[in-house]
Amino acid sequence: MFDYKAAFETAVEQVKGEGRYRVFADLKRVRGQFPLAKRRREDGTEQDVVVWCSNDYLGMGQHPAVLEAMQVEIDQVGAGAGGTRNISGTTRSAVDLEAELASWHQKEAALLFTSGYVANEAALSTLQKILPGLITFSDSLNHASMIAGIRHGGGERHIFAHNDLEHLEALLKAAPADAPKLIAFESVYSMDGDIADLAGTIALAKKYNALTYLDEVHAVGLYGQTGAGVAERDGVLADIDIIECTLGKAIGVMGGYIAADSVIVDAIRSWASGFIFTTSLPPALTAGALASVRHLKAHPELREAHQERAAALKARFAAAGIPVMDSVSHIVPVHVGNPVHCKMISDMLLEQHGVYVQPINYPTVPKGTERLRFTPSPNHTDAMMDDLVKAMDALWTHCNVVRRPAAA
Ligand SMILES: *Cc1c(COP(=O)(O)O)cnc(C)c1O
Repeated sequence: MFDYKAAFETAVEQVKGEGRYRVFADLKRVRGQFPLAKRRREDGTEQDVVVWCSNDYLGMGQHPAVLEAMQVEIDQVGAGAGGTRNISGTTRSAVDLEAELASWHQKEAALLFTSGYVANEAALSTLQKILPGLITFSDSLNHASMIAGIRHGGGERHIFAHNDLEHLEALLKAAPADAPKLIAFESVYSMDGDIADLAGTIALAKKYNALTYLDEVHAVGLYGQTGAGVAERDGVLADIDIIECTLGKAIGVMGGYIAADSVIVDAIRSWASGFIFTTSLPPALTAGALASVRHLKAHPELREAHQERAAALKARFAAAGIPVMDSVSHIVPVHVGNPVHCKMISDMLLEQHGVYVQPINYPTVPKGTERLRFTPSPNHTDAMMDDLVKAMDALWTHCNVVRRPAAA
């Protein structure tokens, strides 16, 4: 007889054996005091911690304008959307949010999904249904949700080396000239903090008559004059065919979307299972996201403060000899290079110093490049940075971790 229990145990043991078994911190954020939170230990006692690894990059998850919009919507409209969009789940705040998102990205239309993951999975797989014979060219460091969508589509796909336009061009050149093509990539890669060459990729797309699909999940709200992302910053919004984003990171709520020409959005809306057959976002979420986007558009000083905080933390780590990795974005990765050390330092930071930063281990990043990934927000003060750098310095000495990596 098949031993089901043993199979599940083996699966967990395998992850433990590789040193990448995850234990989640049980945190309760304190509204109005982000990045402070209360952590509940296993014995039930509480500890005050500073969160250093949230993707709520600007603290919009506690912004009064967002909270008020959500509360008003709950009072006036209620809890759930009541169905899929096709079956009575279209609520007014979702329609208004789509219009706002479309205009933000200077596109004709936008389409909401229940998460960024679902948006990528649904859009990238559906594009292969709509465009028979579509060949997808995918950056090697693309997010798991993009890979899932591309694989699910089942069509021909080629992986190009990360941010390597020469490799991308070689692959494009080798494909039949008349085949439909799609280049799928991200702007800010959130583990290394590097940023793709949008203009260079667009030039190749034009040369080989390919569509461009850009994931701006880690850039939306954070780059460009109005926060529409790196495509806005670089002045190339009109040249990206499909933009995909989340409402769950800098926007501070939850959900995902694409923005594109209305014919593209209409086709995906009509064909994507991951859109058609799932209950739409609750009105309070779409109302909160709408308030957040409107606020972000009007407040470039938040983006300046965010960049200043990231630069300050990088400089402080470097001055203390902590091996901060090259990053041209707001992401501050620190090289550890070993999964056991990485988890141990993260555990000690939490337990002894009240610093919460998740270890980033394989398979999220390649083996040997294990790291801690800090995401300072405008709400992280100089005093919090002082405490963090002191704690890191002490642990680096205690654990005898390399101060400067050979290559990172
Ligand atoms: C987090 C993430 C997503 C998924 O967005 P969710 O809204 O969290 O589902 C997609 N792409 C990238 C690059 C991400 O980091």
